[in-house]
Amino acid sequence: MAFRNIVKLGDEILRKKSKEIKKFVNDDKKLAILLDDMKETLIKTNLGVGLAAPQVGILKRAFVMDINGLYFEMLNPVILKTKGMCEEVEGCLSVPGVHGVVRRPEQVTVEAYDRYGDKYVLTAEGLLARCILHEYDHLDGIVFTDIMEREIVDEIE
Ligand code: ZN
Repeated sequence: MAFRNIVKLGDEILRKKSKEIKKFVNDDKKLAILLDDMKETLIKTNLGVGLAAPQVGILKRAFVMDINGLYFEMLNPVILKTKGMCEEVEGCLSVPGVHGVVRRPEQVTVEAYDRYGDKYVLTAEGLLARCILHEYDHLDGIVFTDIMEREIVDEIE
């Protein structure tokens, strides 16, 4: 495993649409390395809860999440259903130092593949739902600052 450089806002790769994954880890060794590296990068930053492949410069529809010690990988995710709306503060490893309020669904049902190509469906709420929606946006070239209601500026006295 290796730490990968995180692409920052302003790099046009963050604005591109990622491509669907056709071959999973049993047929694509590079995909396994990518996912392992993304996991290591996310955990080592110790700041983020999610990391999408375009954030390490790879335009593939995959993201990883580490929510309170629970690790998730989602490949080719499709949002099936959302419920409710809520506002929470978000940040992003690609936009260091910026935090802002983002309005998103409260609950999301997503269909995704694991690294072996097995499909699963997950219904999430709270931080996990928010993280899925945030990372999903990265796969379509959307960064949270695009949809942020307002920025939260730390007041230093
Ligand atoms: Zn992000």
